[in-house]
Amino acid sequence: MAERRLSHAYMLTGPEGPDRDRAARRLAAALLCTGAEKPCGACRDCRKVLAGIHPDVVTVAREQRDKELRREILVGQIRQMTADAVLAPNEAARKVYIIDQADRMNDRAQNALLKALEDPPGHACFILCAASADALLPTVRSRCVRAEEAVDRRAETRELSDLARAYLETAASGDRAEMTLFCMNRTKLSREETESFAGEVKDAVCDILCARRPDPGLGRDRLFHLAELMETAEDYLRHNVQPKQIFGLLAVETLR
Ligand SMILES: [Zn+2]
Repeated sequence: MAERRLSHAYMLTGPEGPDRDRAARRLAAALLCTGAEKPCGACRDCRKVLAGIHPDVVTVAREQRDKELRREILVGQIRQMTADAVLAPNEAARKVYIIDQADRMNDRAQNALLKALEDPPGHACFILCAASADALLPTVRSRCVRAEEAVDRRAETRELSDLARAYLETAASGDRAEMTLFCMNRTKLSREETESFAGEVKDAVCDILCARRPDPGLGRDRLFHLAELMETAEDYLRHNVQPKQIFGLLAVETLR
């Protein structure tokens, strides 16, 4: 479920050096990880990425010419990369391209990259490492998620999906006092968080109805009721009803 929030282009900014390289590898590992807590550091994909030997992680950097590094990353390199990105991954579910010193791409290279970012092959992800995002074209910049934000958002998504699971389990228990307590403890959530919470509950209900995850004991009728309730909550949020009132509604209506 968190998957659908994954982006296909990330921007990792910071001074050039081993820290940034490590951060890029960690992000690449998170994108390919097959463990639960991504990056788990223990699965085969994580281990290979972190060791720098994963065949589906490709680094693009300035080339050497006459023992000197070229000044720029050239359009030909980016074209070669995007041609490779169309091919299926070797062993992981995705392919990750780390563009080191992305701020060294000249405008032609950036425009070639832009095409790939606008219409990315489904399995390709790009990580742009740069000293600062300012050196990149605004069109390229706007297509990338800041890696730090992405990491934060994923942690937040995980928390909210845990919360959605707890909500469904409490609903399944049928215990009114517990449900009231659950809702009372959530009144401090922000509007965005409440919206994400409702979305996570809907996704979870959908997964249960499609037998993609076990039913904690709700049954079809109550699942449909909860899906409708979340639609109502989302609708209220759009009409500026406060999260506090939304959880008041849920406290009353969940076990109706
Ligand atoms: Zn892993």
